Amino acid sequence: MDAVIQWYLEDRGKRAAEALKKRDFHALYVENQAQAREIVLKEIPPGATVGLGGSVTIRGMGILEELKARGHKIIDHWVTASLFSEENFQLRRAQQTCDVFLTSTNAITLEGQLVNIDGGGNRVNAMGFGPKRAVVVAGANKIVPDLASAMQRIKEIVVPMNAKRINSSPPCIKAGKCIDCRVPERVCRITTIIEWKPPFFSDYRIIIVGENLGY
Ligand code: SF4
Repeated sequence: MDAVIQWYLEDRGKRAAEALKKRDFHALYVENQAQAREIVLKEIPPGATVGLGGSVTIRGMGILEELKARGHKIIDHWVTASLFSEENFQLRRAQQTCDVFLTSTNAITLEGQLVNIDGGGNRVNAMGFGPKRAVVVAGANKIVPDLASAMQRIKEIVVPMNAKRINSSPPCIKAGKCIDCRVPERVCRITTIIEWKPPFFSDYRIIIVGENLGY
């Protein structure tokens, strides 16, 4: 990686981690996803059920394969043929009471907030209450200055790219920008800002990686 890009990601990553610590999260910065992967695997105790948020970052890290090899029950709603089947719904429900919820986040502010928008709500709900522990992994590319820029990042980058991934066509795909649509294809239905470590999690670990991961 270009040295200047690496410096930038590290600088933002460390600043964000410090801001998150001041809000009671257990946050740390690591240089690469191999280090993050090692930490995540250590954080998941033997026998724990693992709920997965809809996360390109997590799925790209090779963690799931290792967890399956270790015999963990993985609750992943991306495995069903339809995202709207009864089986899929039950998986989303089960994520709410898993032992460890493993996910990324749409944005992290330099003030130490996690900002997310869901279409279904299972991911953002599980990030706020339900699972015993949470482990969040995010590339430093997701760090933004404040809440306004977090919303801008999500609507300009995250939503269109995720919509493209699942062959959905909300109006922002055609318009090239958010038009605050009023159509059934609207992705942006539930927005959350986690401002402080949610109290009922025994541990809320946030690992910021000095690489571009996910979107
Ligand atoms: S509100 Fe509609 S147009 Fe705007 S980002 Fe969300 S889905 Fe796209």
